[in-house]
Amino acid sequence: MEKQESTEKEFSLLRDFLTNKPLYDITKFTTLDFPQNLACIFWFCKCNMRCPYCYNTPIVFGEGTVSIKEALDFLKTRQNRLTGVVLSGGECTLYPHLKKLCKEIQNLGFKIKIDTNGTNPDLIQDLIESKLVDYIALDYKAPKEKFENITKNKNFDAFSQTLDFLIKTKFPFETRTTVHSGLLDVKDINEIINDLNRRNYEYTYYLQNYLHVEDTVGNISPQEHQIDINKINTNIKIEFREF
Ligand code: SF4
Repeated sequence: MEKQESTEKEFSLLRDFLTNKPLYDITKFTTLDFPQNLACIFWFCKCNMRCPYCYNTPIVFGEGTVSIKEALDFLKTRQNRLTGVVLSGGECTLYPHLKKLCKEIQNLGFKIKIDTNGTNPDLIQDLIESKLVDYIALDYKAPKEKFENITKNKNFDAFSQTLDFLIKTKFPFETRTTVHSGLLDVKDINEIINDLNRRNYEYTYYLQNYLHVEDTVGNISPQEHQIDINKINTNIKIEFREF
């Protein structure tokens, strides 16, 4: 009897896993978002931040429309055509079955990249130690003293723990910051760069210039000026995007 109950429970959990709809959408093909891979992107709904410049408002505030079963069925049609899957959002580490999903994706033969704001260090550590992720893009939103003001999230220390873990384990990853000059100035960016340098960050740091769109999470105005990139410290490798 107990065995039957446990089998029924497992079946019900599996059904929920497959039929729930945590994904807002799937981008079917990208050459830009996962280095050295032809990939698709799974966009997870919901986020624990409210960055004013975020243009993913339907994803941050919206409801899912794509089930895990539909996503996995899609991947089965892309075996031997794509090599990777990007798990993005929103904040994909809020999804409670991410580890199980990574196993399913890996079993189908795909590599996995995770885009994250770094506020779930335990899950990131678990995924890496379980060898269920191949690459991570980590947002470094702002220096500690501006972090809450910009993201509306108090958890700089969790982000910091994720960053330290990735550096310590020499896991392949990148950090990146979106720059709106009304939110971050040259001094803030240099503080981030000096912090990365102090922590022995060895990869490229990406600075992404904000490009205005109308519909953002904070209804932010266009930048009145751009930061002067000639004043940015270059004591780590930096790549400027859209400046
Ligand atoms: S930019 Fe900010 S609000 Fe938008 S998805 Fe990323 S972390 Fe969430």
